[in-house]
Amino acid sequence: MEAVNHVKNSAVEPETINKTGRSSKSLMSRGNIIKKVFVILVTIFCSAVITNENLYAQRAVDCPASGCRNGQIVRRCTASGCYNGAIMCRTCNGNRQIRTSCSSCRGSGQISSTVQNRCSECNGAGSFPRNNPTTCTSCSGRGERQGRTCGTCRGKGQIDNISNIACRPCGARGTKTETVTNRCSSCSGSGNITSSCGTCSGRGSFSCNTCKGYAEVQDRCDRCRGSGKIYVAE
Ligand SMILES: [Zn+2]
Ligand SMILES: [Zn+2]
Ligand SMILES: [Zn+2]
Ligand SMILES: [Zn+2]
Ligand SMILES: [Zn+2]
Ligand SMILES: [Zn+2]
Repeated sequence: MEAVNHVKNSAVEPETINKTGRSSKSLMSRGNIIKKVFVILVTIFCSAVITNENLYAQRAVDCPASGCRNGQIVRRCTASGCYNGAIMCRTCNGNRQIRTSCSSCRGSGQISSTVQNRCSECNGAGSFPRNNPTTCTSCSGRGERQGRTCGTCRGKGQIDNISNIACRPCGARGTKTETVTNRCSSCSGSGNITSSCGTCSGRGSFSCNTCKGYAEVQDRCDRCRGSGKIYVAE
């Protein structure tokens, strides 16, 4: 303000007459106002230069570092196993489901059970009759005596000798234990049970811890120290 006062005092000029003979007083006072405004502007500018030298000497421009966006350098996430922000579940290999061996059939797909069937050899009797005929002693097996049919063997020459023989195939039980194999109903015969993967809750992958699933990470730009601007000399 001191400078303004000084200029104001020295700016007093004598009234002059211009070529047209009219007084130039009004023109002169307008010139004074312009000078005063100029001095004020210079004063403001100078004080600004004193308080912030950088404003005068340097200019802020956008950081020219490659990939720098507002001070952050965006790059693809390179965390191990990260694919588009997701890390595949190793338990199910991304299949969302896991296959485990069926416990009902121990993975065979078949369930065997034993049933008792009637023995076909003895028809369930456990034994069967067998005829072990003996030679008729009355006719010495000839079937006739003195020209007449032997009454003892009725001409057959043999006497029936029937005994019950235990059935060997069924051990005389009349039934045979047989193994029946059926398709396992738990696994529909495949031997495997498919279930939702518990490790990843059926999602098949996890969100990458490094990029939080965004597939990109931001690093602070070294050149502009994260400000996005650098200062260059005018
Ligand atoms: Zn999984
Ligand atoms: Zn039998
Ligand atoms: Zn006889
Ligand atoms: Zn099964
Ligand atoms: Zn990632
Ligand atoms: Zn930068």
